[in-house]
Amino acid sequence: MTVEKETFEFKAETKKLLDIVINSLYTERDVFIRELISNAADALEKFRHESVTATEIFDDHLPLEITIALDEKKNTLTITDTGIGMTRAELENNLGTIAHSGSNTYLAELVEAAKKDVSLIGQFGVGFYSAFMAGATVRVQSRSWNKSEGNEWVSDGTGSYTITEVPGLHRGTKIIIELKEDAKDYAQEWKIKSIVKQYSSFVAFPIKLGEETLNSVQALWTKNRSDIKDEEYVEFYKFVANAATDPMYKLHFSADAPLAINALLFVPAENFEGFGFGKMDPGVNLYCQRILIDQHSKTILPEWLRFLKGVVDSEDLPLNISRQALQDNALVAKIRKVITKRFLKYLDEQATKEPEKYLEFWSTFGIFLKEGATSDYEYQKEIGKLLRFESSKSEAGKPVSLADYVLRMNPDQEEIYFINGPNRASIEAGPYVEMFKQKDIEILYTLEPIDDFVLNHLGEFDGKKLKSADGADLSLAKDSDEENKEKNSDEEKQAGEDMETLTKWMQEVLADHVSEVSVSKRLVDSPAMIVNPDSYMTSSMERIMAASRKEQGFPGMEKSKKKLEINPKNNLIIKLAELHKTDADFAAQVAQQIHDNAMIQAGLVVDPLEMVERNYKILSRVVENDAL
Ligand code: ADP
Ligand code: MG
Repeated sequence: MTVEKETFEFKAETKKLLDIVINSLYTERDVFIRELISNAADALEKFRHESVTATEIFDDHLPLEITIALDEKKNTLTITDTGIGMTRAELENNLGTIAHSGSNTYLAELVEAAKKDVSLIGQFGVGFYSAFMAGATVRVQSRSWNKSEGNEWVSDGTGSYTITEVPGLHRGTKIIIELKEDAKDYAQEWKIKSIVKQYSSFVAFPIKLGEETLNSVQALWTKNRSDIKDEEYVEFYKFVANAATDPMYKLHFSADAPLAINALLFVPAENFEGFGFGKMDPGVNLYCQRILIDQHSKTILPEWLRFLKGVVDSEDLPLNISRQALQDNALVAKIRKVITKRFLKYLDEQATKEPEKYLEFWSTFGIFLKEGATSDYEYQKEIGKLLRFESSKSEAGKPVSLADYVLRMNPDQEEIYFINGPNRASIEAGPYVEMFKQKDIEILYTLEPIDDFVLNHLGEFDGKKLKSADGADLSLAKDSDEENKEKNSDEEKQAGEDMETLTKWMQEVLADHVSEVSVSKRLVDSPAMIVNPDSYMTSSMERIMAASRKEQGFPGMEKSKKKLEINPKNNLIIKLAELHKTDADFAAQVAQQIHDNAMIQAGLVVDPLEMVERNYKILSRVVENDAL
C-alpha cells in the first residue's frame, strides 16, 4: 500500500490567524479543550443524525463517545471521538482554511473580540486553531464515516501542514496534541477534569478519561422544571451560548398538544451585535427527540430573534429531515409561531413583574424587537406591547409603553402622538411640542432614527392611530376654543388679512423649497415649523432616506417638498407681515432664513454656504440699523 504524504501551505489569512492564536491569546488557554470537545460533540451529533437514514454504517459497533487520554511522560493530550470523521479533502478544507471569509476586517474584529474575551474565539468558527495555544504539534487522525481511507493531518501551526494516508483507523477523529513546554499541565488529570467540569458538562455524549465518565449526559430541557436547579440552568446556558456571564432571562416551557415542544431559551446579558461584530448567527439549536437536527437553526425562530440562545426539541419533527426541507416544513413554521408568541408573552410578563429589569433588556435588545416590528407583520401586535419610548411625561432615560400612554390619554384624545429628535432636550426646545405642552397632551419622543419607521409600520396601537407630530394633518387643535371663535373686531380682521397676504407672498418666495405656507393653528412660541404633507414620510424618515440615497450615490434626489407653518402670534412674523410691503428684498431674506431655521429644527438639511452668507447679510443690516 502506498502511503502518500503531501505538504500544504496554510492560506494567508489562516497563517495570520494562527499567529494571533499562538502569540497573543495564550493567557486563557483552557478554552482550547472546550473547543476541541465541542468539535468532537458536533461530529458525533452529525454522525447520529446521518445514521438515522443511512442504510449501511461503518464501524457500527463503536459507542458514540469522546475519550480523553493523557500521557505525562510523552507530554501529550489526545481527544478521540467516534463521530462523522473527515476525508482527506475535508481535512484539507476544514483545517487549512478559515470557514468564514478571511478578510482582514474579520481578523481585526476577531482580535479585538478575543482581547476582550478569549472564549469568543469559538463564535468565530475558528475553534480548532486554538489547539495551537497549547500544542507545539497537533496531529489529527481521521476517518470519515463514508469509509474512505484514513489520514493524518500534522502541523506545528507555523507555515504548513502535511496530510498522510494512515491505514487501520476507526471511524471518527483523534486529535493528538504534543504539548508545549509551558503547557505541560494539560497532560494532568486534575487539570483536564476541572476544565471539562467547567465547560463541557452538558455535552450530549459521554466524555471519558480512563475509566471515568466526566459528565452526566442529560438533555436538561427534557427534565421537569421543578427538578432543575438554577445553577444548572446557568451552567447549561454558558454551555450552549459559549458564554462567560449569566443570562439575563430564561424561559423553559413544554407543550404536549397540539404540538410536542420542549424549549429552553435564554436571553444573554449582552448584545454582541452592539459591539460591532456584524450580524450574529442564530443561537438556538433544533432537536428532535434529543437528536440535534439543526444547529444554530435559521428556521426555528424568526431572524430578529437571533439573539436568543438555547434549545428547541420537538418529537413531532421527522428525524431524517434535511436542513433544506426544514425551511419549507409547515410543522416547523407552526412550532416557530408557537415559540415566538410564547417568548413575546414571556417578555410582556417580565415587563409587568420587574419593570426595571425589563428596561435593561429593552436598552440592550430593543433594537431586535424594532427589527421584528418592521419586518414581521405576524407578531406586530405582540411586539407593539413590548416597545418603550421616552415621552413628555416620562423621566429621562425611563421609557414608557404604549399601553401606559393610552391609560393617560385625555378622554377626547383619539391618537397617539410622537416626534422624532436626537435627544430629549432638542425635542423639548423645538416647535413641535409647543401645543402639546400647552394642552397637556402626552407626546412620545422617538430618539432613534429607526423609531418612526417602526411606528409607521405598526400604524396603530389599541385601536388608536400612531401619528407623528410633524405631520401636516394633525387634528390636535381642531377643538381649540380660540380657533372657533369668530373674528369680530376690525383689528382682528385686519390681522387675519395681513397673515393671508403674508403667507401668499412667502409661498412665492419659498416656492423652490416648500409646497405651501400656511397659518399654524398649533404653534405657541416659535415663529415657524416644517410639517410633512405625507404622514408616512416624517422628517426622521426623510433623513434616513437621504442618508441611504447618499450611500447609493444619488444625493439630493427625490427630496419631498415640505409645508411651512407660521405662527401669527409671533412677533417676528407680525413684523414680517409689514416689512414685506416696504422692503420686499430684505423681507425675502428673512423669510428664507425662517425657513432654514425651521428645517434645522426638523433635523433636515439646508445649504450651509447659502445660509451663512444670507445670515451675515441680515446681521449687517441689524448692525447698521442699530448704529443709526
Ligand atoms: P467550527 O467548529 O466553528 O466549524 P472549528 O475551527 O472548530 O470551527 O472547526 C472547523 C471544522 O473542522 C469544523 O466545522 C468541522 O467540519 C471540522 N472538524 C473539526 N473537528 C472535527 C472533528 N473532531 N470531527 C470532524 N470534523 C471536525
Ligand atoms: Mg468548533
